[in-house]
Amino acid sequence: MIKVDAQCRTDVPHIFAAGDVIGAPALAATGMEQARMAMCVACEVDYKDVIAPILPTGIYTIPEASMAGESEDSLKSKGIDYVVGRARYMDNPRGQIIGDESGLLKLIFARDDIAFARRPRRRRTSHRAGAHRSRRNDVGLRGRAL
Ligand SMILES: Cc1cc2nc3c(=O)[nH]c(=O)nc-3n(C[C@H](O)[C@H](O)[C@H](O)COP(=O)(O)OP(=O)(O)OC[C@H]3O[C@@H](n4cnc5c(N)ncnc54)[C@H](O)[C@@H]3O)c2cc1C
Repeated sequence: MIKVDAQCRTDVPHIFAAGDVIGAPALAATGMEQARMAMCVACEVDYKDVIAPILPTGIYTIPEASMAGESEDSLKSKGIDYVVGRARYMDNPRGQIIGDESGLLKLIFARDDIAFARRPRRRRTSHRAGAHRSRRNDVGLRGRAL
């Protein structure tokens, strides 16, 4: 295991490490994000110098499953009131196109965020199960950033 600081810099200041060699969570998307940030810092590219605060977990099984952000359990333990929305892929044009009738998208919003706005301002989390769901979780995350 290679020891790094928050910017993936090793004890040798001009050498960076990212991905499985620096330890948990040792997931593909996380390693890519670490590498993007490390490359920007190393090459002084003015794009990012911190790792995204919320990283998606993608499990490349059949069907795939992924999640980003808080779960219902974690929100309950923090005492945050929330609202859940579920959409089945069979009702979704993309699901119909790829023939996935069993996939599910679940979005969780903090109730406070939707109480005073017609459109939810902040999505707490995105959970998916189904074909190609890892790609679709990107869409969920983009929505969350709005
Ligand atoms: C069975 C399995 C299932 C997984 N499932 C998932 C999943 O569902 N979702 C998920 O997000 N992640 C999953 N992972 C983890 C994911 O594969 C890793 O987190 C990711 O590949 C790490 O990327 P990396 O670039 O850090 O390392 P690697 O992908 O291991 O790349 C390191 C590369 O360095 C090369 N290398 C090693 N030593 C040298 C050397 N001395 N000189 C030159 N090259 C060298 C290796 O050959 C390799 O190509 C899984 C891993 C395994 C093993």
